[in-house]
Amino acid sequence: MVVTPKGEFFDELETMSPTDRFEYQNKKLAETVAYAYKHASAVRKLFERAGVIPDKVRTVKDLEKLPITRKTDLLEMQKADLPFGGVLATSPEKVERVFISPGPIYEIQPSRVKWFAKSFWAAGFRKGDVVINTFTYHMSPAGILFHEAIRDCGATVVVAGTGNTDLQIQIMKDLKVTGFVGTPSFLNTVIKRAEEMGNNVKKDLYIKRSWFTGEMLPPSLRKTFENDYGIDTYQAYAVTEPGGAIAYECKQKNGMHLMDEYITEIVDPESGRQLGPGEVGEIVTTQLQNKDWGLIRFGTGDLSSYVTERCPCGRTAYRLTGIVGRAGDAVKVRGMFIVAKQAEQAILSFGVVARYQLLVGRREHRDEMTLKIELKDSGTNKEKLAIDINNKFQDICRIKIDKIEFVSTGTISDKQQGIKDERKWE
Ligand SMILES: [Zn+2]
Repeated sequence: MVVTPKGEFFDELETMSPTDRFEYQNKKLAETVAYAYKHASAVRKLFERAGVIPDKVRTVKDLEKLPITRKTDLLEMQKADLPFGGVLATSPEKVERVFISPGPIYEIQPSRVKWFAKSFWAAGFRKGDVVINTFTYHMSPAGILFHEAIRDCGATVVVAGTGNTDLQIQIMKDLKVTGFVGTPSFLNTVIKRAEEMGNNVKKDLYIKRSWFTGEMLPPSLRKTFENDYGIDTYQAYAVTEPGGAIAYECKQKNGMHLMDEYITEIVDPESGRQLGPGEVGEIVTTQLQNKDWGLIRFGTGDLSSYVTERCPCGRTAYRLTGIVGRAGDAVKVRGMFIVAKQAEQAILSFGVVARYQLLVGRREHRDEMTLKIELKDSGTNKEKLAIDINNKFQDICRIKIDKIEFVSTGTISDKQQGIKDERKWE
């Protein structure tokens, strides 16, 4: 068992008992809500719209009483009430930074924070590392926030920003860069290009560690980075609107620990109701530290689930299991969200399946799923395959397929592959 020693950015919040965390979050939430209600007009409107007073939001569960604010809402709020849409809970001259997201949406960072460093610390960045930051420093928070967090861990930051692969490779060689911060796809591009240029990546480059966010790291790519190139990989989940990484991997790499500086809920995107461990729903986050930015229940649109099992690293926070899709890509069947990508992962993991179509219908007021399958080889044992697929599907999507039909080659067109919702609600 690997236990990360407690250090500068592995604090007591990360090892709270579940009861302590529950109490801590509720106490912080009550303070945050009271402050935001008092100082941010948008928060007052939010409560009025919900018909709730701040005293009624004292626990994480109470957050269900408030509506979710999404990116589109924030854009509308800001258009109607420039520049910040009433979300700012301090006087404008106290604002340290304004970031600009596409929209444009204006987000502020009231003051310099240190907790993002926990994510880089957990990934092992330390003094002596030379880390290239390939996130943009232009408008968006990624570049500067991650820069500061890497620096807080003691490492030297190479201010690279995005693009210009050839130059980045030269910089990595010249400066003997040991750490990479960016997206997995960009590191992959760097490696491919470095090889094209005649480099032996393991020998000519010095990268030993990488930290990713912005897109999920596919397990196959992780294996390539780690096994073929000797680069240790870590990923984090970051959201720009509330400002920063809200979940991150430890050395166990078995999910991303939720940061205690936020309350992160997994909810049914339609009702806003909180979901339990293992259930797929939208990531909704409320920050507890940057109290001058009154963004309560920000809906990210990303779908994930969480696990509660203890992690051998010593951190006790629940873990996000990864991003499985966007809220719009999911179909709700018997109360569970089926994400297209997860369904595909379950069904196409069987190499004998050529194409599939998952039909969601309704019979006698009950949702019903029928899976149609085209096989590559008609000699396959269909009965066994149907059972195996259904077991796998239940493992991944947590719901059973009602009927599996094998259809002849050419029945399912390219366009039809995937999930089709055929329910009518009249
Ligand atoms: Zn852990």
